[in-house]
Amino acid sequence: MIGAGAAGMMCAAEAGRRGRRVLLVEHYHRLGEKIRISGGGRCNFTNVGASPAAYLSQNPDFCRSALARYTPRDFVALVERYGIAYHEKKLGQLFCDGSAAAIVAMLKSECDRGRVDWRMPCAVDGIERSGSAFVVATSDGPVRAAAVVIATGGLTVPKIGATPFGYKVAAQFGLNVVPPRPALVPLALAPDALARYGDLAGVALDAEVSCNGGRFREHLLFTHRGLSGPAILQISSYWDGKAPLAIDLLPGADAAAWLRRQRSSPAQIENVLAQRLPRRFVRQWCTAQGATDPMHRLDDRRFAELEAALHHWTVQPAGTLGYNKAEVTWGGVDTRELSSKTMAAQRVPGLHFVGEVVDVTGWLGGYNFQWAWSSGHAAAQFV
Ligand SMILES: Cc1cc2nc3c(=O)[nH]c(=O)nc-3n(C[C@H](O)[C@H](O)[C@H](O)COP(=O)(O)OP(=O)(O)OC[C@H]3O[C@@H](n4cnc5c(N)ncnc54)[C@H](O)[C@@H]3O)c2cc1C
Repeated sequence: MIGAGAAGMMCAAEAGRRGRRVLLVEHYHRLGEKIRISGGGRCNFTNVGASPAAYLSQNPDFCRSALARYTPRDFVALVERYGIAYHEKKLGQLFCDGSAAAIVAMLKSECDRGRVDWRMPCAVDGIERSGSAFVVATSDGPVRAAAVVIATGGLTVPKIGATPFGYKVAAQFGLNVVPPRPALVPLALAPDALARYGDLAGVALDAEVSCNGGRFREHLLFTHRGLSGPAILQISSYWDGKAPLAIDLLPGADAAAWLRRQRSSPAQIENVLAQRLPRRFVRQWCTAQGATDPMHRLDDRRFAELEAALHHWTVQPAGTLGYNKAEVTWGGVDTRELSSKTMAAQRVPGLHFVGEVVDVTGWLGGYNFQWAWSSGHAAAQFV
């Protein structure tokens, strides 16, 4: 097993529990670092609503089988067995009450129960086929194995160990890789938009953001470089680098009806909107829209335009803030190359891919760890 992150440790522990001889090789000097820093240090370890609809992939049904065989309930049962206190924060997101380090310790302990051997820190230089087995070249010497599980994750946060190793192995064995890009990532604004909205850093509002079939109603946060907050992180996974975002600044029927009731208000548009939206934002937004009149002076056409602009504010991101700020990597080993049952490459028996290295990307909110647990557990039944 290569990579002792979330998916690798789950897979190693489960394979060990099944009585398999497992060697887990990790090149970074600290164990489970991404788990430790996740969820603001409290690890949003699953989402009780994890279902295929919450995952992006070229093959959206691929994740169904693994998620059904190892569910959020299964992971919660493990967490409870270890007496780790947790709570639901919102939207089905389960977090540790205390430190995420408890999840790392739990997985390490499960590996110990499965008598997993470790090489860490230990660099992996390459993998070669040798008859029906594999030889893995490591800095501690070669290792021969009947099966190899690649659990090396995506490209996010390279300073704590991320590498493109998994994609390189896939390419070496002739497997297609969906070109990776940062996801669950803040978005940058172009200089002209930043000149207008950059001063709003720290201002947040409730909005519904949509793009390329994704739609999320959550907080949107202005930053010094552009936009962030859960609504933006979520939609960033759908952003293809081209399409503009459509932002509903007054989401919901209630807000739409409220706006229509303001139709005859003698107050300035800015003052009316400031009842529902942060004033500093409204001031900039109204100036950009040329919406400086009192509300009741707008004729029907201008009011309809204002209404449309509020419900469909179009924003063109200039880019993402990249892998250093991203939570996950979109794309990866093409699921059409893999068995959804065993996570092994169809054309390379014994070579499995689990976790984030695979082209399965979850929404924000514990879905990515659940995919790591489920896919790791699935592969462990077949190694
Ligand atoms: C800041 C941050 C917060 C996050 N918070 C959450 C959250 O709260 N909830 C959630 O669901 N998801 C969260 N995520 C996403 C989640 O951490 C990942 O989706 C998950 O860790 C993926 O698991 P993995 O095992 O596939 O990869 P990883 O956990 O990244 O593990 C991969 C391992 O492989 C090792 N490795 C890489 N290359 C090599 C090599 N060549 N040789 C040997 N070892 C190698 C790495 O060092 C690493 O230990 C967060 C991510 C970040 C960056």
